[in-house]
Amino acid sequence: MPWALSVPLLPEESLSSWLVRAALRQGCDPLSLTGAIWPSWRVWTRDIDREIPLARMRPLVNASGNASAKFQKAGMRDDCEKVAGYSLPETRTWPWLLALGSRNRIRHGGQQVCTLCLAEDSTPYLRRRWRFAWHIGCGFHRVQLIDECPVCKAPIEPHRLSAEDQHLAQCSRCHEDLRKAVCTSPLPEAFSFQVMADRVLQGDKAAFGNTSIAPADWFSMASFFVGVMRRASRRPTSPLADALLSLGIPVVNSRMPISGLAFELLPLSERSALLTAVERFMDTGIEEAFSALVAFNVKTSALFDPRKSPPAALLSMLSRLSHHPHGPHRRRVPPVQRPLSERAVRASWARLKRRMKAEPTS
Ligand SMILES: [Zn+2]
Ligand SMILES: [Zn+2]
Repeated sequence: MPWALSVPLLPEESLSSWLVRAALRQGCDPLSLTGAIWPSWRVWTRDIDREIPLARMRPLVNASGNASAKFQKAGMRDDCEKVAGYSLPETRTWPWLLALGSRNRIRHGGQQVCTLCLAEDSTPYLRRRWRFAWHIGCGFHRVQLIDECPVCKAPIEPHRLSAEDQHLAQCSRCHEDLRKAVCTSPLPEAFSFQVMADRVLQGDKAAFGNTSIAPADWFSMASFFVGVMRRASRRPTSPLADALLSLGIPVVNSRMPISGLAFELLPLSERSALLTAVERFMDTGIEEAFSALVAFNVKTSALFDPRKSPPAALLSMLSRLSHHPHGPHRRRVPPVQRPLSERAVRASWARLKRRMKAEPTS
């Protein structure tokens, strides 16, 4: 039976946002609504913003009266495949799409919002673009997005709101109105990176030196540089760190991630710090940036894991660096209960804190 109250998708609205709004509009919890549409499918344990699989589309179209093309367009798959350059598997993290890190219905993060956009909406709703890992600010309001409740620090989980909550611009845990949050400015270079990445996603080609490359190659190059910055931040007294410093990129930054988590799982503050470094590196000009690496005698092994192949666009640049000659393999003596380094302890503490952010049970 179709719903009594129709709920059209709003411009650029994400699928999860629409499902939550549709539930609140019908006066029920998101969980009850999706349970009624799909009795045997646990929607909220997956990242439903990615897509509604075609096999699950019919009951949704029947209940809502919205065309299936609208739901397909609202999904993230097409954009994410353009970014990745290959067809994405349903399971696994998608490159540059924030991961929810969900276990059952509980999440660790992965949803960001612009509180000013929410405040201006007549019906607050979530935008698709807020799920991209390179988004750290709002292009309209020039403020930093938020990825947690400013009061209780819970991740933003609108699917856990209930029928009485009425709108989704609030924390599902403490019910703070997110529209009251104090806004801050995004880091300017990270924001420039965001503008650049948006432009690449919208176009067919991205500029690279004197030539142009496919959007997927551009994003894989940017991921590579993110990896370089993370490696440099782990070795602040290395030729790589010195080379970056000579380019005006300090890699010792309190906001650099220490958790070792994938970029798509990092909080906004840590992604901003990394993108700031990457933007400075790219803004130098790739040729010039690599010349600095050569001048400081940085080895290729300092830049990336040799078991992984670097982006094709960078191969000729990387060939200018010397390779690390591997000496004869020495048998490693198993360590005898060595105490962990301070960094290892801090990293596991950061990962534990992230797990603790999600409520243990609900
Ligand atoms: Zn905004
Ligand atoms: Zn809260």
